[in-house]
Amino acid sequence: MHVPFVDLKAQYLSIKEDIDKAVSNVIEETSFVGGPYVKKFEEAFAKAYGMKHCIGVGNGTDAIYILLKMLGIGSGDEVITVANSWISTSETISQTGAKPVFVDIEEDYFNINPSLIERKITPRTKAVIPVHLYGQPALMDEIVNICEKYQLTLVEDCAQAHFAQYKGRFVGTFGMASTFSFYPGKNLGAYGDAGGILTNDDTLAEKMRMYANHGALKKHQHQIEGINSRLDSMQAAILTAKLPHIHKWNNARLDRALLYNKLLEGVNEVKTPVIRKDCKHIFHVYEIRVEKRNELIDFLNSKNVQTAIHYPTPLPLLPAYKYLGYSNEDFPVAANYMGKILSLPMYPELTDAQVVYVVNCIKEFYGRN
Ligand SMILES: *Cc1c(COP(=O)(O)O)cnc(C)c1O
Repeated sequence: MHVPFVDLKAQYLSIKEDIDKAVSNVIEETSFVGGPYVKKFEEAFAKAYGMKHCIGVGNGTDAIYILLKMLGIGSGDEVITVANSWISTSETISQTGAKPVFVDIEEDYFNINPSLIERKITPRTKAVIPVHLYGQPALMDEIVNICEKYQLTLVEDCAQAHFAQYKGRFVGTFGMASTFSFYPGKNLGAYGDAGGILTNDDTLAEKMRMYANHGALKKHQHQIEGINSRLDSMQAAILTAKLPHIHKWNNARLDRALLYNKLLEGVNEVKTPVIRKDCKHIFHVYEIRVEKRNELIDFLNSKNVQTAIHYPTPLPLLPAYKYLGYSNEDFPVAANYMGKILSLPMYPELTDAQVVYVVNCIKEFYGRN
């Protein structure tokens, strides 16, 4: 049996008519950048979150950069974020001229450990960016409290957590603003690069919209110098067609995850993901921790099961941040997980039989069949 890591084609085939129609409409109307399709998606996405504004942008990385920049963050400032994430979260901090300050992750949950945040706060700290990694909400009560106590701006990186919930509330609605990626493999994915920012703040929304469009809200009226990071209409039309399915897809991922968890029970070499109490984990990634990780990857490969690692090296230990002078001891939890984490195939269309097959291969590897 072949089990790919993700299968975007299976999802396309399940909604082919709607997608083909969305794409052909955009082409028929040659409405390629901006216009009604972008507006329609922005309104639908904001409404689905109960937020006032959605600003569609080029990708999830630009979303963070545009937001930080329009918050006035720049040279001399520090922004706190988490040691285990995709590099977008920290490289955008540096792009503004500010310094990324990394915090280790929680045991078992892979998210920023709030009890380690306060000691990283200095007079230069301006903002905190938790990442709801793998689709699991970060500990928002604690993070919100710290941000209020020290008057820091809270910005959520929701690239992996579309409609995940913390105590009944969507993540992405806790801070000043939140950023999303609609990269094809994300839970809500376009057919190319796309991103978005949610906020309830009118002034910030307008600034971000302007900055993402060459500093102009109206053609040729450049109030400031900006960048070109627009959500293209084809992607917006595709996302609008996909949005009504997102809860069903998230639930299907959760089902697959619970099946993996159940079938892997008792396999002591494998630690399965823990779902935080009172939270809805949307399993962008199904991450296990294992012994003999690299041998297991090779074995699964030989059985036609594709896996991945999210992420092989914690951010502060990457060559890109060598200049900060960190070592493994500075991020003991993330560093300890480095050689153990492994992402198993996860997508809504994954079948029960495929999950059973993957688990049987893992059991075979550890001699437990
Ligand atoms: C995917 C991702 C991003 C960046 O999104 P792009 O659309 O690829 O630019 C940012 N942060 C996290 C945590 C991500 O997983």
